Amino acid sequence: MSYFPLFHNTHNFKALVIGGGTVALRRTKSLLDAGVTCDLLATVVGSELQQLVASANGNITIDAYANDDVMLGYGLILALTDDRMVNQTIAKDAKAMGLLVNVADAPDDGNVIFGATIDRAPLTIAINNGGASPVLSSILRQQLEQFVPKAYGELATLVGQYRQQVKATLPTVKDRSNFWHDVLQGAVAEAVFSGKQDEAEALLKKSLQDADKSVTSAHGEVYLIGAGPGDPDLLTLRAFRLLQRADVVLYDALVSDGVMELVPQDCERVYVGKRRSNHSVPQTGINQLLVDYAKQGKRVARLKGGDPFIFGRGGEEIETLAEQHVPFQVVPGITAASGCSAYSGIPLTHRDYAQSVRFVTGQLRDGSVNLPWPELVVEGQTLVFYMGLKGLPYICEQLIQHGMDASMPVALIEKGTTQDQRVLVSNLTELPAMIEAEQVMSPSLFVVGRVVNLHDKLAWFASER
Ligand code: SAH
Repeated sequence: MSYFPLFHNTHNFKALVIGGGTVALRRTKSLLDAGVTCDLLATVVGSELQQLVASANGNITIDAYANDDVMLGYGLILALTDDRMVNQTIAKDAKAMGLLVNVADAPDDGNVIFGATIDRAPLTIAINNGGASPVLSSILRQQLEQFVPKAYGELATLVGQYRQQVKATLPTVKDRSNFWHDVLQGAVAEAVFSGKQDEAEALLKKSLQDADKSVTSAHGEVYLIGAGPGDPDLLTLRAFRLLQRADVVLYDALVSDGVMELVPQDCERVYVGKRRSNHSVPQTGINQLLVDYAKQGKRVARLKGGDPFIFGRGGEEIETLAEQHVPFQVVPGITAASGCSAYSGIPLTHRDYAQSVRFVTGQLRDGSVNLPWPELVVEGQTLVFYMGLKGLPYICEQLIQHGMDASMPVALIEKGTTQDQRVLVSNLTELPAMIEAEQVMSPSLFVVGRVVNLHDKLAWFASER
């Protein structure tokens, strides 16, 4: 049995509670708290329940349930007697009359159930698990209560008073959503939580005035966001927050599907990476696209794999923005080397094995890799090669030729931090053949250095994941 959560208006809503025990007392309390009118029918009524109903001007009838006549005029029936057969009869009659009916301890006999609720009027949070485990709901409620400060209700009341005004001032859904996000997660909310209602209202009014001005002189903005190496959990909080505000997202193949799932539904997505034909939007084209979208007044999120400033050409993108006076923010991301290192159990530095780490591009230009080999062949240094898959045999050969130990350990990490991560451990001499045999795919990077030896010891961590 599954349940659909609806919140029922309590105006002119009447409930008949049948049964006079502790469950009846509990349910009656929550109904009365919510403003539902309650009458009671029971053979025996506890004194607390009697007082409760009486003090809310409810009718109390001391009698057994006989027939459905008693249900006329009610919207909700509660079958809470201690006789299961009687409860079933009540439920059957109520359902035949098209009424809502709740049955104690036998949720499926009725058609509505009570969830665990968190009351921050006018804010209500209700939890339901189809009657499977009231204790589970109650544990969840306790956890949620810690995240929902008591003053959330006051916050809801305050912003509710401004809803129409904000709608009139900010005509687009996106502008309103941004406005409310700022209010509900910023200084206005903080003021309410610290009991400064007047200050909160003044701040809210001021934000609305400011928002009005910025809408009339609509200017866009670009967020150059590091999306990390793949696992969406590695996104920073700031990256996540800015993504929620974006009108358009520009992304390429290095941005994982998991991260793209965090992009809001109504946000326009523009792919600027390599297509199957291997043609990608040229860098100058991307730089210009960012400017063009921003000049249309849009908030543009440019998602880049890893960190935008590490082999990401982020510098070139913001140079164009600066020249064209487009405001921008850069959000750092976890670079592939850090992500792969953590998820494969290979620290990049270590007191005993590596006192420095060097990120190197292994991209081939004209069939060769032009690198300062002697600087790379140094003991106590870890090398991380990005974009080096094609040139890998040549790189290994050159390192050996320039004096590196031919048995230096090397790890290749394919699709690091994702569900498909693969780690291949070898050495400078044997890695090229291994890559060939294993058909390694992009994106992959490789780590050269004694730290790779730690993988065996620390890999349990990666495999535990
Ligand atoms: N700005 C990015 C790097 C872009 S260059 C960053 O900071 O991570 C692209 C190269 O990064 C790829 O060729 C590959 O070598 C590496 N890379 C990116 N994501 C990776 C991943 N999930 N696993 C392994 N290598 C990755």
